[in-house]
Amino acid sequence: MPEPQARDELFVNFANTLRWDRDVEHDELRDTEALITWLRGHGLVSERGRTAELARLRRDPAEGARRLERFRHLRALTHAVAGRTSVGQPPTAAQLRDLNHILRHGLHYHQLRLDRERAHYTFAQVGDRLDQARATIAAGLAQFLADEDPERLRACANEGCRYLFVDRSPTGRRRWCDMRTCGNQAKVARHRARARADVNA
Ligand SMILES: [Zn+2]
Repeated sequence: MPEPQARDELFVNFANTLRWDRDVEHDELRDTEALITWLRGHGLVSERGRTAELARLRRDPAEGARRLERFRHLRALTHAVAGRTSVGQPPTAAQLRDLNHILRHGLHYHQLRLDRERAHYTFAQVGDRLDQARATIAAGLAQFLADEDPERLRACANEGCRYLFVDRSPTGRRRWCDMRTCGNQAKVARHRARARADVNA
């Protein structure tokens, strides 16, 4: 299995599997199958792992629901942490405890494998595949909080959107997930409010 994609992209993409359109929630991880497909698409389980987990969780739907819930919990935790970092607050002690609990499952090692006479430096995991994948996503969040400016993890300032992003702009003052959509909406709303004020004046 190759190394998973850039870590902060991964945890941000994962958090954004839950989206809001005004107050209507859209959950990309609507069931266990959608979750495992997402993990496969992001290099967090192998093809063999995907097939095995799908078969296992189809046989045991209650276990499937529990596993899905664990991922949703990490997602809710990421949004909660971003809710704090967005306003310049560090994560709470309870949030850190939760995050560390998830990270404990992230046991892995590197290995050199030979394939058609060529050596590949690869990443191998130990133990439960899904808990591992969840720990890998959580590791991106943990490393981000430790190594970067946590205040740059933000929820879009458009109340109806709440999309998470890492502000990598030079000034670090980006407020919207996308200037063309949410940023523009805010500009239009300000413009309308001003126009109304002018009419009422
Ligand atoms: Zn937005």
